[in-house]
Formats: sequence, structure tokens, C-alpha cells
Amino acid sequence: MQRADYIICGDYVLTMNDRMDSIKDGAIAVKGAEIIDVDIYENISKKYSSENIVGGKGRAVLPGLINTHTHAAMVYFRGLADDMPLNDWLKNYIWPAENEWLSNEFVFDASQLACLEMLKAGVTTFNDMYFFCDSVANAAEKIGMRAVIGAGIVDFPTKTGNSADDYINNAERFIEKWKKGVRDELITPCIAPHSTYTCSSETLKKSKKIAERLDVLLHIHLSETEWEVSEVLSRYGKRPIEYLHSIGFLDERVVAAHCVWVEDREIEMLANHKVGVSHCIESNLKLASGFAPVGAMLKSGVRVTFGTDGAASNNDLNILGEMSTAAKVHKAVLKDSVALDARTIITMATRWGAEVLGLGKSVGSIEKGKLADIITINLKVPHLAPIYDVYSHIVYAVMASDIETVMVNGRLLINNRMLITADENSILQKAFEWGRKISLWSNGVKG
Ligand SMILES: [Zn+2]
Repeated sequence: MQRADYIICGDYVLTMNDRMDSIKDGAIAVKGAEIIDVDIYENISKKYSSENIVGGKGRAVLPGLINTHTHAAMVYFRGLADDMPLNDWLKNYIWPAENEWLSNEFVFDASQLACLEMLKAGVTTFNDMYFFCDSVANAAEKIGMRAVIGAGIVDFPTKTGNSADDYINNAERFIEKWKKGVRDELITPCIAPHSTYTCSSETLKKSKKIAERLDVLLHIHLSETEWEVSEVLSRYGKRPIEYLHSIGFLDERVVAAHCVWVEDREIEMLANHKVGVSHCIESNLKLASGFAPVGAMLKSGVRVTFGTDGAASNNDLNILGEMSTAAKVHKAVLKDSVALDARTIITMATRWGAEVLGLGKSVGSIEKGKLADIITINLKVPHLAPIYDVYSHIVYAVMASDIETVMVNGRLLINNRMLITADENSILQKAFEWGRKISLWSNGVKG
């Protein structure tokens, strides 16, 4: 008998590997950070012994979900300003609030809340774009969550810089500090020029050069609104994706959030340059940005994945919600009930998410040799009975509250729906304390 640190088992183990193998009455042996075996429970239990058995009867086991676009710390602005146009929301509410409140302490506390929320909804990796990014990294690392963290870059002054060069220098420093080149590292730094309308061509080109030199991802908002398209057209005579193509920005390092207003020839550009797309459907619906052509992008071979965007425009960080909404909305938009089937949706939220973030060799599927980022779902609840197709249940019926255990890097973070690496109550209490202060300020500003 070999020793395993954990044996994780369930009625269904959905590996999400490229053969889409699913194992009935399956089990996974985990040692250290790695998956050392995946098989039917009978075989695993003969080969391995462990004091830690996770899951069991009435459970589904799958790779952790991946949130490919968010601004974690914005959870503290959740519900602060709703039901308004994006530009008004951003310029008159969100940017002033950020200017007033952002600090290392704020971003650390808020990011801990975001990590707690995401983990409890089965998200094991998130791709962040924000300021005070050392604090985002510290928060994720402390809780034990995997994160790609992008140092935000804009051309205008904020609390963390006066000019593009300030942000660019900070991004270089951040990447050099956090890039450790170890396979099971939780934090992967990257560079995040905010958008084509908040960064000049020069800023975008500099960001791209740094990404190439330091071998990191480029995370950007792209073609989110009709306004953005007309703004970029009037500045450069090109639509946003054509414009980025013309300055040599597009390649497989790029994770482009939104891609709502995209024409066919731009879809070809995204596909040819292997750009990863983060589809943020609930944010797009709430801010009335429009419907991204996800069906057409998938058809052209674009890797489309799911992002929640920040909680101020969603208003949660629940990838299961994005999956369910996208599966339904695109069927209606395309007038095709076969489009975005459950298996495709789960692939987008797991394996493709990992690939787009450059983590495809490490996570995104349950396979021997990969890192153990694994979640279990309790299937013994009224809204999941009976079960004919577990993939379909995950997309159309599972709720975040059904996520029972969450493991990242071979470490159990959520057990029986409770965080075990930090104190949930104190994270919540801090959120309410910050909320009270922000609310007083907000009422003063408006009033
Ligand atoms: Zn965003």
C-alpha cells in the first residue's frame, strides 16, 4: 500500500481531460500538491491508504472552476451604485470611490472576502486586474487560493501613480517580486493595461514588451461597449481589435475580457493570434453592454472562458452563475437550443480557463501529474434529484451552496462548506465595518 495525503471520491469524477473521461464511482489519490492517481474507487482503495477521505457517496468531483476576469477587491463596492449606464457608473461612482478608499489595507481585506466568496462557489483560480496588487497577492496566498494577478495600468493619475510610467515601473517590480518560476506556486503575476481607451498606443506597446521580456500574460478589457468602439474608431480609425492587431499587441499571452462588440474579421484575428477571451455575461447584461458573439467565436476556434468581472457590476463572483446564464442566454440569442451545451460550458470554465491563463499544464483537469485543484459537489439535495446527466446538473441546477469541499494545490481550503485557512467571521465582520464607512462617505457625496 502506498500512502496518499488525501483520497477524494464520488459517484462521478469528471476529469475534464481532452477525452472528457468521467469515472463512475471514481477516486483521486493526492500527495503533496499533486494528483498521483485517478481511477475507480475500488482500484484506488487497493493501492493507496490515507487518513483523509474526502467526498463519498452522493458526490460529484470535478476540477476547480476558473474565473478568468475579475477585480477581486471591488467586492467592497458591491451594490454601491446599480442600475446606471457604464460610463456614468465608472466615472461618477466607481472611480471616485476607488480614489477615496483604495489602500493596501482595503485591498487586502476586500480580496480576502473575494477569495472566501469564490472558494465557497467552487472557484479555485482567479485572474485579477487591479491596483495595490501586492495586497491582492498576499490575501490570496494567505487563504491558499491560486491567482494570476495583473498590475493595473492606465494613463491617468490614481492613488498608486501619476503617469503610465509609474504604473509600468510598479508592474515590473511586482512581476519580478512574485514570479518565482516554481510549478506549484500559487501566485502568478502579470501585466494588465486597463483598455484601449485608458492606455495610449505607447503604454500598450510598453506593456507588451514587458510581458514578452518577463514572460507573463497581458490582461486587458476589450470591445466591451459600443461607446468604446466608436471612441477607438475616432482616435485611430480602427475598431479596438483591429487597432490592437495593427500595433502588434495580439498573441496568445493576451487575455481579453468581454469582446462584446466584435465583427467577423475581428473574430478571425482573435482566433489566428490565439487570444484568450473572458466572457463576462452577467456584467454585460447588468451594464446593458450587449451580447458577445460567443457562438461565432467558439465556431472560429477562439478559446472563450468565463469571468465574473468585479462584484460592483455583477454582483457576485460566482462562475456557476455565469455558466448557467451563458448557456441559456446564447441559446436564445442564437435561436438554437443545442448551442453551448453543458459539456462545452464546463470545459470553458475549467480546462480552457486554465489554458488561457497559461496554467494548462498544471491545472484545469483531473489527471495524474497535475496539481490538485479539486472541488466536490453534494448531489443529495432536492434541486438535484433525480440525476440523469451530471454535466447537465452542474450547468443548469447546481448552486454555489452545493459546493462542499475545495482543494487548491493539494491543500484543503473549504471543508464541509467552511473555510479552514482563515476565520470566516472576521473576514465578514471587516466587510461590514468597511461597508459602514463607505456608506457614510457615499451618502455625503451624493447628498
Ligand atoms: Zn473588468
